Amino acid sequence: MVRRIGKLQRCAVQGCRAAVSGVVEIELPATWTADEAALALTATVPVGACRWHVAELSRRQRAMHTARRDLISALEVIELAIATESALRADLATTQDRALQAQADLAEAEWTAALPRVVAR
Ligand SMILES: [Zn+2]
Repeated sequence: MVRRIGKLQRCAVQGCRAAVSGVVEIELPATWTADEAALALTATVPVGACRWHVAELSRRQRAMHTARRDLISALEVIELAIATESALRADLATTQDRALQAQADLAEAEWTAALPRVVAR
């Protein structure tokens, strides 16, 4: 996207009237999900900009791609944490059930041991 004023090409950044010195190809993600197929879906938009804005737009694009990768990594960590917590909760429930059963077995054994013994003659 290059704005023209007369024969001069002007920077596409709003408010900047400097001459175009380069083109930045900005990749816009179609989605922010972690799906690998979706990661390949991007729209690339060429933008003409002055020297300062070429550098700034390039920096912002790199930052956006880094943030996207970080977001996807964070989502993977969260999914793993959820699965781990779910497994731990299941293990805890099983352990609590076993502890309750052990307490019941112990109480029954103590009750049986406390009964008067009948000695057969
Ligand atoms: Zn500019």
